[in-house]
Amino acid sequence: MRFAFTAEQTAFREEVRAFLQSALPPGWEGADNAIDDEAHEAGRDFLKKLAPKRWIAPAWPKAYGGLDLSLWDQVVFNEEMGYARAPIINTAAVGYLGPTIILYGTDEQKAQHLPGITAGDVIWCQGYSEPNSGSDLASLQTRAVQDGDDFVINGQKIWTSQAHYADWIFVLARTDPDAPKHRGISYFLVDMKTPGITVRPLINMADGEGFNEVFFENVRVPRSGLLGELNRGWYIATTTLDFERSSIGGTAQARRSLEDLTRFARTETQIGGRPLWSNPKVRHAIADLWIDLELAQLLSYRVVSMQARGLVPNYEASIIKVFNSEYLQRQARVGVGLMGLYGGLWEDSPWARLKGRFAKSYVVSVGSAIAGGTSEIQRNIIAQRGLGLPRQ
Ligand SMILES: Cc1cc2nc3c(=O)[nH]c(=O)nc-3n(C[C@H](O)[C@H](O)[C@H](O)COP(=O)(O)OP(=O)(O)OC[C@H]3O[C@@H](n4cnc5c(N)ncnc54)[C@H](O)[C@@H]3O)c2cc1C
Repeated sequence: MRFAFTAEQTAFREEVRAFLQSALPPGWEGADNAIDDEAHEAGRDFLKKLAPKRWIAPAWPKAYGGLDLSLWDQVVFNEEMGYARAPIINTAAVGYLGPTIILYGTDEQKAQHLPGITAGDVIWCQGYSEPNSGSDLASLQTRAVQDGDDFVINGQKIWTSQAHYADWIFVLARTDPDAPKHRGISYFLVDMKTPGITVRPLINMADGEGFNEVFFENVRVPRSGLLGELNRGWYIATTTLDFERSSIGGTAQARRSLEDLTRFARTETQIGGRPLWSNPKVRHAIADLWIDLELAQLLSYRVVSMQARGLVPNYEASIIKVFNSEYLQRQARVGVGLMGLYGGLWEDSPWARLKGRFAKSYVVSVGSAIAGGTSEIQRNIIAQRGLGLPRQ
């Protein structure tokens, strides 16, 4: 089978590429996986360049600030953004919360929240996980109690990415403690400036403040902050998770890194002067990565083609999540391995190879197999829904 993009899609690719060349600083090579204020500011500036073109959320309907981009156009767009290592932020809002509001929000909620996202003004974070509720998310204990026209939230969230930059948070809280655990949860949209919210940073092993603890102490949320029906939040939350897991066009950045690594392996010499490339183990490792990358891309195109035919990918999205996140780990492992002792150095060392990008992704990629549902949980989904194996 031959895959080919149409002439229009190829022209769109050229348009996106030309835009990126002019919008990103000359010689831009990406933000080295950094998670810091500088990277966040670069992301905010970049949102402001995307906004006038309606390219922050181009796949959203035109009525909500998007362009109604077709799925395949979206693949083209995401691939170019990924390959350029464009500084993308606010993915929780653009990728999963916005589409969830479009599906379940009232007209007032759509009018209140969607324009701020597509203008690049309002940053969101995702308040799902709690200290004792991650994989078993439905066991969450944060409580929301109705009091007049408000709900009052008490509890704690953890691993909340970008909470220290976020203007708003979408939160799952228990509204009926007596109901079965999936049936007593509601979904709230909460302004981070509301009194009673405290954000405490957690430093990850890449030395970045990627996520946080978020504490809620008598936080009053008006009824307009309830998304969907009371006690039906779990079903809305899983829609959000489906959007989160089926990343489209997500292999382009890994392709760029692999091109860098292949070039490095072809030109670098080992101690003693032997070219790295003369070692068959090196060539095999690189070849394996290229083959896996093609696989990752085909798996991703499979999900897109299902969606384009109106089917709803389910375990197929889990396959991509496991494969892509573990692929990033393999790629990073080969990368730092080929660099020898230099492989452990980050970008601030003059001895770092390829700007220390592989050392950073070696540590950052650990989290990618946990965030959005761990590999074990995805494998359970694949086993039960894909292979029809019984629940343990
Ligand atoms: C980089 C990063 C960003 C994140 N960002 C956010 C965010 O913005 N918002 C948010 O709400 N959360 C976020 N998270 C949290 C993430 O969703 C959870 O870490 C994840 O769901 C796992 O939950 P847990 O950490 O509580 O681990 P646990 O659920 O306690 O799991 C511990 C281990 O047990 C395994 N395990 C658990 N249950 C099963 C089972 N049934 N079968 C087999 N194995 C099992 C798991 O796979 C894991 O290895 C983020 C996490 C990371 C790493």
